[in-house]
Order: sequence, then C-alpha cells, then structure tokens
Amino acid sequence: MRTQITAANWKMNLSYPQAEELIKGLLLHDIPLQPHHQIILAIPFPYLDMASKKVHNLRNIAIAAQNCYYENQGAFTGEVSIPMLASLGVSFVIVGHSERRILFGEDNDCIRKKLLACCNNNIRPIFCCGEPLDIRRQGAEKDFIAQQLKESLFYLSPEQISQTIIAYEPIWAIGTGQTATLEQIEDMHRSIRNQIDAQYGKNIADTISILYGGSVKANNATDIFKQAHVDGGLVGNASLVAQEFISIAQSMKR
Ligand code: PEP
Repeated sequence: MRTQITAANWKMNLSYPQAEELIKGLLLHDIPLQPHHQIILAIPFPYLDMASKKVHNLRNIAIAAQNCYYENQGAFTGEVSIPMLASLGVSFVIVGHSERRILFGEDNDCIRKKLLACCNNNIRPIFCCGEPLDIRRQGAEKDFIAQQLKESLFYLSPEQISQTIIAYEPIWAIGTGQTATLEQIEDMHRSIRNQIDAQYGKNIADTISILYGGSVKANNATDIFKQAHVDGGLVGNASLVAQEFISIAQSMKR
C-alpha cells in the first residue's frame, strides 16, 4: 500500500507555549500507527527546532516547514533556506500552498524553483495544487491543475518526484468548511495520478502519495481517506486541536 499521510498545517497560529502544549498532547496520545502511516507537522519557523527535538526518535512523525526560499544562502533578508531547515532536522517543506500563491504572489515558476531546491537538498516537498472557484464553475479545473503540474512539478527527475508528496487542495474548500464531494476528490486524484503515469510511468504513479486538503475534519476524514486514490490529508484548522487531529490521523487506511 502507498504511504498514508496525515499532515498538519498550523499556518501562522499558536504561541510558543501553545505549540509545545499541542505537540505534547499529540505525543501523549501515542496514536496507533502502522508501518505505512506517517504524520507530518508543518509548523511555524520559530518552533521547528523545539518540535524536531521532540519527535527526534519517532519513526512515523516528522516535522515540516510551511515555506522556504530556493537559494541556499545570501542577501535575501527575511528568507529561510532549505539547508537551514535541514540543519534543524526538518525533513519536509510545503511548497505552493494557495495562500503563498495568492497572498505572496508565488507563481508556477517560483514553485518550480522551490521544488528543485528542496530535492537537491534532500528535503521532501509537499507540493500543493488546486483550482479557484471560478475555474471549477467553468468546468476547467482539470486543465488548471494540469498546467500547475506541467509548469512546476514535471521539471523534477523520476528520482525527485518519487520523493515528493502531492496535496490536491481546491482553493474554495480551504478554511471555508466546504469540502469537495467524494466524487470531485476521487476524480481529481485519479486525473493527477494519470498525468504522473503519462509523464513518469506507472511504477512511479502508483507509489506517490496524493493527499486531499480542504476542510478535512474528524467527521469527514474516514469517507475522504477511503477513496482509492486518496492517501491521506493536509489539514489546516482541524490540526490545531489535538483530539480532532488524532482522530483524523486514525482515519488513515489500514
Ligand atoms: C490548508 O491550509 O492546507 C487547509 C487544507 O486548511 P483547512 O483544513 O482549514 O481547510
């Protein structure tokens, strides 16, 4: 079975003590994970060191950054490089989240550079793609996602894409409480996997984890994660409450 992943995206939330408390709550619970299960916590930069020390010895729990810059060092005031993240024990980075695209002007080319920089520094990217509501209303969502894949993701080599996690996150479902229907989710995940197959071959397409993101909650995770081409979720708001996130993680395919 493909690796099933529940990834938390805390976004710009929580103070340092609250972050410590939430990680403590998650670890105390000792979530029953199987070898093909993985939990990833994408947390704010200032808490990465603390968090990566806390999960240091745990096989199925890893720490991710929510962003990175694509240059390794230099005069880029305020940016954080991938080697810096690696030196803290961070093993994943979210790349191309719609909030980065919309609020901070990251385009497909910028995301392409970040993906390549992650892979070149042995950090695994969680590549986000997703269409806005007007594109979905026009019925043009598949073309839109195909372009995001073509202009960013498909520059990776076969070895590099094998290390990448994909998150399909329809923008209209993020933070809105409005989840895509199970049919919409499965249909898009199948289409993404078919495009990977066409570009890299079936062996690679069959092993890549494709997560769904967009208002995943404890009460809908089981149905969403059950879909054949869904390999877990990227969870925003619901990842800020330990019990809610734990029960989402427990919904991963067994
Ligand atoms: C996200 O931020 O990636 C996300 C999916 O958020 P939410 O779960 O709150 O919709």
